[in-house]
Amino acid sequence: MAKLYVVPTPIGNLKDITLRALEVLEKVKFIACEDTRRTKILLNHYKIEGKKLISYYQPKEDTQIPKLIGLLEYEDVALVSDAGTPGISDPGFRLVRRCLEEGISVEVLPGATAMTTALIGSGLPTDRFIFLGFPPKKGTKGYFERLKSCEDTTFVVYESPKRLYRTLILIHEVFGNVDVCVARELTKLHEEYIRGKLKKVMEEIKERETLKGEVVLVFRA
Ligand code: SAM
Repeated sequence: MAKLYVVPTPIGNLKDITLRALEVLEKVKFIACEDTRRTKILLNHYKIEGKKLISYYQPKEDTQIPKLIGLLEYEDVALVSDAGTPGISDPGFRLVRRCLEEGISVEVLPGATAMTTALIGSGLPTDRFIFLGFPPKKGTKGYFERLKSCEDTTFVVYESPKRLYRTLILIHEVFGNVDVCVARELTKLHEEYIRGKLKKVMEEIKERETLKGEVVLVFRA
């Protein structure tokens, strides 16, 4: 039996990849990736050549898993996503679970993820935190209300810039004027942390015509 390697890739700055991640990508023949074009850019940057790229993205997970499991009987496979750590709001866990059920070893490499970068950069307490991923699009307020009993906890939320302001309104309605941080474009040229009380941060965001790029929202209940 071969091995599945779970390999984190940069969330922006291409230098944020570990030596071990590069070693694994160099060593394996097959790479399962969310978007083959994105992975090709990364491989070209590191002059890693001759790999067979297999599409593994969300709507295709069910059909691709049996193929990958078949391949893993005799070949190592690396799993990458478009950015950051596979399995963190990205495809990954279904394949990992299936490998474990089939007795296939899984080796997870530590590496870049927006979640911990934003959490630590927020300046909010890190002793106890809950990662919410992308909150549900429907029933969002009720979802936050159910979390209200978690006191002295820092929450980390992935959100699209389009929905950010609406989510901030809901957090204000449920949690009040809490400490918040909007971490934007982490590790990229326009990296920015907007920190402060929720009302002030909302005003700052409202003043801007658009808020582009990727964002993580961190708040303290
Ligand atoms: N697997 C990734 C990880 O480990 O962070 C997350 C992938 S998820 C599809 C994409 C979301 O992650 C974005 O909507 C944003 O909330 C967050 N994200 C990813 N890269 C980011 C960055 N450079 N700056 C801010 N947020 C980022």
